Amino acid sequence: MAKSDYYEILGVSRDAEERKIKKAYKRLAMKFHPDRNPGNAEAEAKFKEIKEAYEVLTDTQKRAAYDQYGHAAFERGSMGSGSGKDFSDIFGDVFGDIFSGGRRQRSSRGADLRYNMELSLEEAVRGVTHEIRIPTLEECIFCQGTGARTGTSPMACPTCHGQGQVQIRQGFFAVQQTCPTCQGQGKIIKDPCTKCHGHGRVEKSKALLVKIPAGVDTGDRIRLTGEGEAGEHETTAGDLYVQVQVRKHLIFEREENNLYCEVPISFAMAALGGEIEVPTLDGRVKLKVPPETQTGKLFRILGKGVKSVRGGSKGDLLCRVAVETPVKLNERQKQLLRDLEESFSGQSGVQNSPRSKSFFDGVKKFFDDLTR
Ligand SMILES: [Zn+2]
Ligand SMILES: [Zn+2]
Repeated sequence: MAKSDYYEILGVSRDAEERKIKKAYKRLAMKFHPDRNPGNAEAEAKFKEIKEAYEVLTDTQKRAAYDQYGHAAFERGSMGSGSGKDFSDIFGDVFGDIFSGGRRQRSSRGADLRYNMELSLEEAVRGVTHEIRIPTLEECIFCQGTGARTGTSPMACPTCHGQGQVQIRQGFFAVQQTCPTCQGQGKIIKDPCTKCHGHGRVEKSKALLVKIPAGVDTGDRIRLTGEGEAGEHETTAGDLYVQVQVRKHLIFEREENNLYCEVPISFAMAALGGEIEVPTLDGRVKLKVPPETQTGKLFRILGKGVKSVRGGSKGDLLCRVAVETPVKLNERQKQLLRDLEESFSGQSGVQNSPRSKSFFDGVKKFFDDLTR
């Protein structure tokens, strides 16, 4: 069964201050408290409802979530809690009463929804279509979103005559205010639809096919216009934002349009040169390693990166080679290395290890300068 609106339960407007909510709660709680209504199950249910509404609406975070997602905010799912509200909506809420003039005060357009989607790097690079399920409010099919019982229709609010606004005189000033009878809707429902309890919307979980274009990256979001929550009382539906998060890849790291990977090569390969196979997103390619390659050297393989969703040319694949120290050597191998090391000693060692030489020369100069 669909839940009633928390604001309606407490009989306060959607922009009511906490003080007002507390006051309304106190008054209703006194009336429906089980101690005052012994054996009255209806009163008990009502009391629970009031308490729940009070707890949500007096918690700033919960209230914001409820305002955005409705009851769906407190259901399990992978909905994000970020604010999808745009700037004008925020101003509408804060300054609406003062600046709106004759205009309908509050837009009751359906809330925007956010869905966090995790993709593999391959999916993000090539594009993919995923089916997602989202909790949302949809237009009630029993009353076609009007909120009125089948065969009846909402009537113009008698207080504001359908304007949604009333004028209140304060001394010399006439101030426009949201109509307290219809909360700015301009109409009231005498005979509410039994399915949606007059909201015109019902909670549903809906399946959507989301087409992710090739080249997206973490932080990109795809807007699905009109796939958010249905608006209350026949107003426009909100949008659905699919927020992309790319999972860490086993081999590749993406930086803008380039891909990076680290390739281990043996000590002998680094010294003598050779050819190795390196992975790319479209299979293996051969990479020539020149003789005397030092660890950390970066090799660029043109055009094996990513083509951004925003266009432009394809990035490159950058392979960083890492010389691997051999482990678990047998006696013979150890001896070969000792022999090799010995051959490096003396004058020829300087030629064999130019980097070590310049480093140790630097160290020597450093200490000489210190003791001078
Ligand atoms: Zn309905
Ligand atoms: Zn009214």
